[in-house]
Amino acid sequence: AKEIHQILDEEPVVSEYQLRHWQWIASYYMCAIGDVYRGAMPSALLLESETIISQKQDVFADSATFTDDEFLIYEALQQQSALKIKDIMDILNRKNIFPVIQKLIDKGILILQEEVQEVYKPKLTRYVRIHPNHHTDEALAALLELLKNARKQKEILLSFFQLSAREKKPITVNQLVEASGASVAGVKALIDKGVMEQYYLQEDRVVYTGEMNDTRPSLSDAQQKAFDGINDAFESKEVCLLHGVTASGKTEIYIRQIEEYINQGKQVMYLLPEIALTTQLVQRLQFYFGNQVAVYHSKYSNNERVEVWNQVLQQSDKAKIVIGARSALFLPFSNLGLVIVDEEHEQTFKQQDPAPRYHARDAAIVLAGYFGAKVLLGSATPSIETYFNAKTAKFGLVEITERFGKVMMPEIELVDLKDCYFRKKMTGHFSDALVQAIAEALMRGEQVILFQNRRGYSPVMECMTCGHVPECPQCDVSLTFHKHKNQLRCHYCGYSMAKPTNCHHCSGIDLMTKGFGTEQVELELKGLFPERRIGRMDQDTTRGKYGYEKIIDSFKNREIDVLVGTQMLAKGLDFDNVSLVGIMNADNMLYHPDFRALERSYQMMTQVAGRAGRSEKRGRVIIQTYNPNHNTIRQVTEGDYFGMFKEQVYERKIYYYPPYFRLVKITLKHRDFDKLKEGAMWLYKVLDQTFDLPVLGPEEPPISRIRNEYIRTILIKIPQDQPIGGVKNTLRKILHSFESVPQYRAVKTAINVDFY
Ligand code: ADP
Ligand code: ZN
Repeated sequence: AKEIHQILDEEPVVSEYQLRHWQWIASYYMCAIGDVYRGAMPSALLLESETIISQKQDVFADSATFTDDEFLIYEALQQQSALKIKDIMDILNRKNIFPVIQKLIDKGILILQEEVQEVYKPKLTRYVRIHPNHHTDEALAALLELLKNARKQKEILLSFFQLSAREKKPITVNQLVEASGASVAGVKALIDKGVMEQYYLQEDRVVYTGEMNDTRPSLSDAQQKAFDGINDAFESKEVCLLHGVTASGKTEIYIRQIEEYINQGKQVMYLLPEIALTTQLVQRLQFYFGNQVAVYHSKYSNNERVEVWNQVLQQSDKAKIVIGARSALFLPFSNLGLVIVDEEHEQTFKQQDPAPRYHARDAAIVLAGYFGAKVLLGSATPSIETYFNAKTAKFGLVEITERFGKVMMPEIELVDLKDCYFRKKMTGHFSDALVQAIAEALMRGEQVILFQNRRGYSPVMECMTCGHVPECPQCDVSLTFHKHKNQLRCHYCGYSMAKPTNCHHCSGIDLMTKGFGTEQVELELKGLFPERRIGRMDQDTTRGKYGYEKIIDSFKNREIDVLVGTQMLAKGLDFDNVSLVGIMNADNMLYHPDFRALERSYQMMTQVAGRAGRSEKRGRVIIQTYNPNHNTIRQVTEGDYFGMFKEQVYERKIYYYPPYFRLVKITLKHRDFDKLKEGAMWLYKVLDQTFDLPVLGPEEPPISRIRNEYIRTILIKIPQDQPIGGVKNTLRKILHSFESVPQYRAVKTAINVDFY
């Protein structure tokens, strides 16, 4: 038996449900349980160790042999028995203390130990009150008498009484200092005299103090019908999809649903893609639910996240509703009643790297199952998988086909770029039709959004003499030109170089840019509308905690007339003055080499278009494309979600893709090209021989080298109705034997189940 050295937590900081759920994630998404723990817990909940120094028991020290420093430490240890490194620095009044400590260790007097503690630091505020000795009236009178001649101190005390009477709550030292005009030292003198005492209370770091209103707007008929429909679906189903066109008022329906569950004393989790988690939405919820709303977000500090964690753990009223990005899924819920997954089609719900590569929507459905909680998925453009599940009655389905308040769906027009270039009706990348529409909208005092699915100035730079294209030295990708910084930059590894004046290959000076990004759109726009205020929203302009928010606010406040941006613009934003949306080029999305390319193009265009005309006036959308007859573009213009769905589902069925097949992707990486190729082939052959399933590969991905690592992928397709457990077990074994082949030991493998 050993002595207990330290008790780490008096109560567990994780719940039984969490452990069960994390185990499921590790098993389903095929990763180590440690990976899940690391991804799940805010790092401030983890423990950090600190060295402490204590005295060895039972030693008799001959203090006569001590130097002065040694004696000071020894003496301090007589009184405290353990000291931290920084205590000793204080005692000796210097930083260089280790030689002395080492001497005492050598003499067998001291030992070093580790003490473990939470990294989380609660936020403490210092309060003052009258010392309990003076709580009776007589004692108080005596006290004032005593302080008769200490005028300043008496004033402080009187200020304190006034302040307490007015505030009717505990008074902080700072408040008292401010109210009395005294100094902190003055207050401290009263504390030293035993007249007052100080104490600490833990504060919440994040508190909502804004406006609140508990009268809800009444639901429209369509909303009411949808609300009732959801309740009906929940009678027999665990999951319900709310498919409502953009601006149909889905958020208002979520709010009503949330209310139902918190009134039953349940917890509610509201998941959103990171980028859609704006102040706009949080405030909309806080407006109704005030401080019952907690936010869990990667941009929050570690301490703030632990605070939310503890509130959820304690089932506090302050976290009845947790609104968060995918990682909110890992919070210690114990009484979950409802999960909302808004914008459920968003691919950012799927974690890519590092493991666990989980899908937050799917993992949330499993989590809800433990509690018998309901799951409401919402989107104007549901993922094919979810809509399929709804159509096959696995999920409930509720649809809203009209916008709230008789607002019309925007009118979508196509501009054929082939024709425009041919007839010279283009200025840069702007067709005459788009320029005119922008001019008209601005003239009426309305705002405009322009969407281009690429950042930077142009993705390719080419030498007109020899055709050389500058590429990243570490990745297999051309460098993107950023004009503002006059740099070529790699969007995969961050490599950058100054823009060359000559071709590195033939020294030619005729370097041209090809393709275009948001930066170029912005610059051309400034040329077309020099007197207008133009903003840009992409990864390059939204760094920092509030970078994104700042742009949204200034657009909302109409300090920006035209906002140019990437898909960041598509995420559930509600601007009432935007009457025109322009999609600069629909084609680069359509021809992405990915089985989800058309689904995504539809979603992206429909969502961006959905930002137009969200209040009375009908919005207008202009899509510039070389392929006006493309099926997907037609489906977007007609708002034909179901047409898109049917076409995609048909293709997925014949080509063995989700929702009919589950995909397990294995990625292999190595710095040695030949070894990687050989290894990938070895693995592919074994998999193909072992499984009676379609195994594809080893494939060279479109970007086949990143940060000097070559990449190959292998894809296994498993029919949806086949139990996946057996396949995974076999796969684990095969990967294990792959790793034990000596020449492939250094090949890195990553498994992505249900990859997006
Ligand atoms: P969605 O989430 O479907 O895109 P929103 O919930 O943002 O739609 O609603 C679109 C607009 O309509 C918002 O400005 C919202 O405030 C307004 N709205 C929705 N429902 C109501 C209602 N019942 N009463 C008043 N305004 C509503
Ligand atoms: Zn690179």
